[in-house]
Parts: sequence; structure tokens; C-alpha cells
Amino acid sequence: MTPWGSEVIRAVALMSAGLDSLLAARIVAGLGVEVHGLHCTFRFAFGPGRERPEALAEKASAMGIRLHVQDVTDPFMDVLRRPEHGFGSAVNPCIDCHLFMIRRAKVLMDEIGAAFLVTGEVVGQRPMSQHKPTLFHIEKLAGLKRLILRPLSAHVLPVTLPEENGWVDRSRLYGISGRGRRPQETLAAELGITGYAQPAGGCILTDPFYARRVKAFIRNRGQESITPETMMLCRFGRHFWTGSGRWVIIGREEKDNESLEKLSGGRWVFEAEDTTGPTALADAVSGPEEAALVASMLARYVNRRSGDRIRVRARRGDESMRIDASAMDPADLEKWMV
Ligand code: SF4
Repeated sequence: MTPWGSEVIRAVALMSAGLDSLLAARIVAGLGVEVHGLHCTFRFAFGPGRERPEALAEKASAMGIRLHVQDVTDPFMDVLRRPEHGFGSAVNPCIDCHLFMIRRAKVLMDEIGAAFLVTGEVVGQRPMSQHKPTLFHIEKLAGLKRLILRPLSAHVLPVTLPEENGWVDRSRLYGISGRGRRPQETLAAELGITGYAQPAGGCILTDPFYARRVKAFIRNRGQESITPETMMLCRFGRHFWTGSGRWVIIGREEKDNESLEKLSGGRWVFEAEDTTGPTALADAVSGPEEAALVASMLARYVNRRSGDRIRVRARRGDESMRIDASAMDPADLEKWMV
């Protein structure tokens, strides 16, 4: 029985689409606990390799788990703006991100009367966030001391309250540690779990190419200026920071052009007028001279004979202007590319 006198032992499990969290939730559900999954989504993190929440909800439901999906993009911006424990090798604030998710889970625990939290963490698997001292540091900061059960690594960790109180049978938990994937894959096969996301389809914040763009934004505009749109824009097209500190993004393909148009907000949109070509997005264009510069950057990617001039239309809301432009020298442009 839980401290609240309930016969039903309820737990919240943090569930990404990855194998470890699926396994952890499945193991605990298999021990007779009523497991509620929490899946946090970020609007800037969609794309290939990411499982849609609906597919994850179906998988969870087949395991008898109800999945709660929360779009956490907006509150997560504070973590990106001020990561207390810093970024990892890219722009991944893993320790603060874990803490953020665990705090979200704690709110859900309180709402549904859950006795403990389940995570798929494996000791020693990730450089920053899954070392033992860090795990304990995080649970203390989240106010969940000894209340986070990590079923995959339980045997190499101190006994938690759910085990001590008999809410789960410790002998049916595991002692996996380190970076190898084989034990989890074997366990998945035993438990009949298939179709899980591969690690390569993981978090975009760990992608060095993406991180370069976000870091360039931070250098030019400051970390406090990060917004969900910034994070989304960093996914598309070619990125440049001009000598005068303008951010210019030029689409590589149709999908980029559409996304730049959708995310244009109060920025200037540039397009070639008399021919097809990419869309360019530029912020803080202060006058015709700067508009001409962006137009010449765009002209570089319009399929024309070298030296030909093109007509470019720039618009922002009700404002618009027309510019005759010839392509900028690729070597000059290269210097601004990130
Ligand atoms: S890899 Fe991404 S989602 Fe996972 S903890 Fe790090 S920042 Fe958060």
C-alpha cells in the first residue's frame, strides 16, 4: 500500500521514443504497477527518425500504459537560455533537460497520485547526465530523493523506496550499465518490443551541425534571445551571418522555402521575381543597401549565367521593394556561412 492508503500502486514513466524508456516502463507495468507515461515534445525537434506521439501512444497502450503527451517547447526555452549546468558537446543541456523533464513528471505524479517515477536511464550510458552522482544530484534537486526507479540499472544503484516498500519486486529489475546496447536489445526481444527508435534518430540538440547554427545565433544575438522560432529556423536552409550582423537564411529545397515562409514572422522575405529559385529570410534589414546585399546573396543561388542580373522582390507584411541584383562572389559569401 502507498503512503496515501491507495491499493493501486501508480507510477509515472518518462517516455521518449527510445528503447530504454520503453523497456523501463514495460518492466514496471509488468510488475503490476499502474504506469502513466509522460512524453514531452519540442516543436523544433520533428523530422526523420522521430516517432510521432500517436505511434508511441499506441505502443504504450499495447503495454497497458496511458501516455500523456505535453508540448514543452515554450517552458523549455528557459533551459536553453540559462542552462545552469551548461551545454554538452553541442547545444544539449542534458543535465538541466533531465531535471526539467523530471520536474514536469513530478507535477503529473502529484496530479494523478503516483507514488514514484520511472526512467530509462542506464548508469554510465551518456557522458554527462547518467553518471551516478549526477543521477542523485538531479533527484535531490527535483525533490524526489529515492523516488526515481531506474529498472534497467536498479541492481547497480542503491535500493529505492519503491523497492524497499515492496511496491516493485527488486529481484525482477536489472543491472545494466555502460554504453553498449546489446543487453537492452536482448531484453527487448524477450519482452516482444519491436519498432523502437534507433539512437541515430535522437535529440537534435546533440547534432553538431545544428549546434553550429544555434551557437552562431547566440554569439550574435545573445542566449536570452533564443525563441522557439529561432530553434526551428536553425533546421532549415543555408545560414549566414553578414559582416554587419544580419542573419540570412537561404532555402536549399522546396521544403526549406515553405518553412522559411511559414516562420518569417516580422522578417523580410526575398524571392527572385522573374525566375524560380530559393527563398531567403533576413532579419533586421534596415534599408535599401542592406536589402541589396541580401538580394545579391540570394542571386548566388539562382540558376543563371554568371554576371546576369536578376530582379528580386523583398517583402515584409505590407511593405515591399524591388531590387536588381547580381550574384555575390561565392568566396565572399562562404566567409559568412555557418
Ligand atoms: S539528449 Fe536531448 S532530450 Fe536527451 S537529455 Fe540531452 S538535451 Fe535532453
